[in-house]
Amino acid sequence: MARGHHWRPVWLAAGAWLLSASASAAQPYAGPLFDAHLHYNDEACVHDAPAPGCPHPLSDVLARMQRNGVRAIIANSRPNDGTKALAQAREETRAAGVTVVPFIRLYRDRADYNNWFRDPSIAELVRTELTQGTPSGPYRGLGEFHLYDSANAQGAIARELMVLADRQDLAVLAHVDDEAVEQLMQHVMDARQQVRSDLPPGRPKTDQPPWGAATREAVERGGPVLIWAHTGIGGTPVARVDELMARFPRLMGELSYRPGLTCENGQLCPDWRALILKYPDRFLIGSDTWINQRWLYYDGLMQGYRAWLGGLPPEVARAVGWDNGARLFGLPDPGERP
Ligand SMILES: [Zn+2]
Repeated sequence: MARGHHWRPVWLAAGAWLLSASASAAQPYAGPLFDAHLHYNDEACVHDAPAPGCPHPLSDVLARMQRNGVRAIIANSRPNDGTKALAQAREETRAAGVTVVPFIRLYRDRADYNNWFRDPSIAELVRTELTQGTPSGPYRGLGEFHLYDSANAQGAIARELMVLADRQDLAVLAHVDDEAVEQLMQHVMDARQQVRSDLPPGRPKTDQPPWGAATREAVERGGPVLIWAHTGIGGTPVARVDELMARFPRLMGELSYRPGLTCENGQLCPDWRALILKYPDRFLIGSDTWINQRWLYYDGLMQGYRAWLGGLPPEVARAVGWDNGARLFGLPDPGERP
């Protein structure tokens, strides 16, 4: 009896060891990566300044992407010069195997973080950038923008830019909470409703939108793609993320800084694993290089993603690592890791 009593914990321990050994034995994901949250801000490089104004020149940031198998990026920067520098460097980015998907940042400087949603000059900035485009083509999205207080989602410019994104098929990269996700989506629905009720009297108000091809296409697309930066950085419960994913088919979750994402051995926690398996085509990875320290740890960040992606079924790992981002912007398959 004493013997059995002693054996039991040994078996339990062995079982736990086997579990953790099998988790850590998963091979890291080795396919291409789409970095869906990259900043090339002026702390990293002021583009007309020599070093030390540019601790991370283009050659440095592209080398970091290349050696980590990052084959495409959502590029945005404060101010927009960094994005333009990346978009302009067509030879260098091609040589590094990196496709640049440019987004318009809504900030000229740090003061704009807390005021953009009510500042008409930001909407003007966006319209000007949209008209100009970038050396590698049109902008594909707006953001990253922040709403630290979800009430600010009601700001006139937040509303205006969501409607603009909807009409022009621009994606939105938003660092917001779950309530603000709902409010931003509601702006789009309200604007469509408004167009319906503005129809001349006597015209039948049907669900069939009669107000022009651009808006009709927007309706058919089902609203703008909203990439939720961090997917709830304040720790939005997984059940709530699930609810929003179900309600908004074009909501995508970007997973940098997401609390509670990984557990033992850098593998996904069970609730997140279940959520990603439930919505394999809705999640993205990102570096969020908002300060230079993130550039210094870029290798480690990408290795961390590769570790937990490797614990997923191969087709899901490939979807989250690459396919989901590539599909949003129509990028060609880059093949395997260069
Ligand atoms: Zn960011």
